[in-house]
Amino acid sequence: MIEAQGLTRRYGEFTAVEGISFSVADGEILGILGPNGAGKTTTIRMITGFLPPSSGRVTVNGHDLFHEPIKARREIGYLPETVALYGEMRVSEYLAYRAQLEGMSRGDARAAIPRTIDSCLLGDVSHQIISTLSKGYRQRVGLAAAILHGPRVLVLDEPTVGLDPKQIIAIRELIRDLGQKRTLMISTHILPEVEQLCRRVLIIDRGRLIAEGTPTELREQAQGSSILRLTVKNATPDIVDILARLEGIESATERSENDQQIAELSPEERAATRVELGYSQAIDPRETVFRTAVEQGWVLLEMVEKKASLEDVFVRLTGQEADTPADVQANMPAEPTTIETDSEEVAS
Ligand code: ATP
Repeated sequence: MIEAQGLTRRYGEFTAVEGISFSVADGEILGILGPNGAGKTTTIRMITGFLPPSSGRVTVNGHDLFHEPIKARREIGYLPETVALYGEMRVSEYLAYRAQLEGMSRGDARAAIPRTIDSCLLGDVSHQIISTLSKGYRQRVGLAAAILHGPRVLVLDEPTVGLDPKQIIAIRELIRDLGQKRTLMISTHILPEVEQLCRRVLIIDRGRLIAEGTPTELREQAQGSSILRLTVKNATPDIVDILARLEGIESATERSENDQQIAELSPEERAATRVELGYSQAIDPRETVFRTAVEQGWVLLEMVEKKASLEDVFVRLTGQEADTPADVQANMPAEPTTIETDSEEVAS
């Protein structure tokens, strides 16, 4: 559906995006993940035809975005980071205006507006002045405007930024619904958003594509190994060295009384040593670890396998923490920057 080849964007001497290539299949939900300033918005703006690349090309459903821009852009609905809504208009008026901008006929617009209001759950506010709507509802209006002309691809740039936890849940549900009938691309720096919504992920860092795959593939790829967490009483000072030498063990690290409050620990646990072992998935070291503990006279209080999270992958690849806001964690089954305009930008 979308093919991007060698997309590069320079701002003077600075290269914001360099040689990014990827494709998005029909019906796919693709996440673009990256820390702030990684080049997500720049990539998305090139894909949606709002910013010409310095080099590279994009085709949408076979139409080259720069040779056949009208045909290509007709296939795309775009929700930018900051939506330019006309606050003084009513929701339905604004959608009628957007239909006009999209070049829709009166008949098409008349059919599409109520349908879109319905699918974006805007029925109760369709006659309300936009400036009086909550941020969550304004985002719905932005989504409605993006899908009004019936695009097959929907591109969303940080769609939940700036929303409160309840609004985030509602917008994600809406995005999930909209994604059932469309190809979806979502940029975000919020990991749970990717885990919840996307089947495939591109990780961008400093303008380059550094990883690509399903969340599961990325976890396996980046880790290549699993982690065993041990809690050991009566450990000898050489415990880490001994464990590190066992077959299949790739790393052994002693951990401090970290993720648990000391007060919550039993007296035995307080005297315990915690060790994390990284091991190759080809060899299960649990039995050897157990036998070694017995031989050494260590008391193995706990041995737990820890699965790598997408967060581990992200930190390992980019060296940066991703955003996992408290509200997002609390609502698991899970903010706009104004982009400076550039003189070469294509008018929307
Ligand atoms: P965020 O999550 O913070 O929005 P991002 O991944 O979307 O970040 P971009 O907005 O694409 O990142 O920016 C990538 C880099 O390009 C940044 O270093 C940014 O400062 C720079 N950049 C973006 N637009 C311009 C511009 N018009 N002129 C100069 N530099 C720019």
